[in-house]
Amino acid sequence: MAGSKTGTVLIAGGAIMGSFIAYFLKKQGFAGEITVLEADPTYVRSSTALSAASIRTQFGCPVNVHMSLFGADLFRNIRSEFGPDADIGFVEKGYLIIGPEGSQDERRAGVAMQNGEGADIVALTPDEAQRRFAWLNVEDIGIATFGLKNEGWFDAWSLLQLVRKAAIGMGVTYRQAQVDTVEVHGGRATGMRLATGELLAADWCINAAGPKAAHIVRDLAPALPVEPRKRTVFSIKAPLDAADFPMLFDASGAWIRPEGQGFICGIAPPEHNDPDATGDFEPAYDLLEDVVWPALAQRVPALERLRVERSWAGHYEINTLDHNAVIGPHDEIPNLLFANGFSGHGVMHAPAAGRAIAEHVLTGAYQSLDLSPLGFGRIRSRTPLHETVVY
Ligand SMILES: Cc1cc2nc3c(=O)[nH]c(=O)nc-3n(C[C@H](O)[C@H](O)[C@H](O)COP(=O)(O)OP(=O)(O)OC[C@H]3O[C@@H](n4cnc5c(N)ncnc54)[C@H](O)[C@@H]3O)c2cc1C
Repeated sequence: MAGSKTGTVLIAGGAIMGSFIAYFLKKQGFAGEITVLEADPTYVRSSTALSAASIRTQFGCPVNVHMSLFGADLFRNIRSEFGPDADIGFVEKGYLIIGPEGSQDERRAGVAMQNGEGADIVALTPDEAQRRFAWLNVEDIGIATFGLKNEGWFDAWSLLQLVRKAAIGMGVTYRQAQVDTVEVHGGRATGMRLATGELLAADWCINAAGPKAAHIVRDLAPALPVEPRKRTVFSIKAPLDAADFPMLFDASGAWIRPEGQGFICGIAPPEHNDPDATGDFEPAYDLLEDVVWPALAQRVPALERLRVERSWAGHYEINTLDHNAVIGPHDEIPNLLFANGFSGHGVMHAPAAGRAIAEHVLTGAYQSLDLSPLGFGRIRSRTPLHETVVY
């Protein structure tokens, strides 16, 4: 479908994804009307507000490396994007990802691919890792990979506020409204029906509804394979210097990174115990004592002594087909666009996704970064593009 600089855009969901889409549409010169429909403007249960807000370039799919590189660049230069007072506390201290014995060849191939795409990752032998990170137990590890640049963490809430404010400043309207469904007639999205029954007409409908994205397109086939899955974050204090501590991902899947005066940590539950989490925001407290703590204390002995300060749970928007985002137009309804299913890496990829959706609306094609490998076509043909580096 040809792009357009005018017309009416409706975006369902006004957290990080919806806001970056609206922002880039205006920034790139969309002169029409943009309304962001957000069910809960407090964002208390949005993934964005509950996320660990970290960014990495260590991915299995080249397209994800590129999306992260764009995000990291924008975060690093946040003031030139959003003005001299903009601050998202971007700490560029790298991901340290531990590989078990036997994973060396596969991990080195991954690093070669990532660096070939523009990332800056080093592969470390256990001895090299030990010299660089004195607190690390390397006894049972095969390899460690570490991001020298473009990886770290930031404040997702501040980022959301910046983008939202900038979008509003350029004329975007945010309206509190629950979208019930996207209306489709004759191969075109004609608008969005609200839970109140009100029908809003649009030339473009964009789904940025996070873990609930499948609900508003539930009448379409094939279904959007995006489901909410619970992830718990534990905030802890430990007798460990956070100053040079990276985002550490252990081979067990447990992770930890500095946050304020302490650390945050967590782990994904085992696949067989990771159900659809609709409505469930109760932290999985047992995970800390049973799984996360023992794994982290094995990797970082100083963590044998830790104190839990608080915990919370949020929802990953898992694409059950392949753990990758679904971005861009529906294959049969070209004015219905998706920015969904980021499977736990959506804050870092929101800038690239927002820019890409904006380009598609304005010109009918991607201009900066080709995100077509993440298109809806693979959902219909059931040809997954598996992302293997998932947590
Ligand atoms: C514990 C945890 C840790 C994470 N860690 C990271 C990380 O380190 N790095 C990273 O990049 N990502 C991380 N993520 C994933 C990241 O948070 C998400 O990928 C990202 O926030 C998705 O943004 P979104 O705007 O699409 O979704 P959300 O932030 O969930 O926003 C969707 C919005 O849509 C609204 N909405 C939903 N349905 C409707 C409707 N029908 N009508 C109107 N509005 C609607 C919601 O109210 C919500 O505000 C993490 C997630 C969790 C839960």
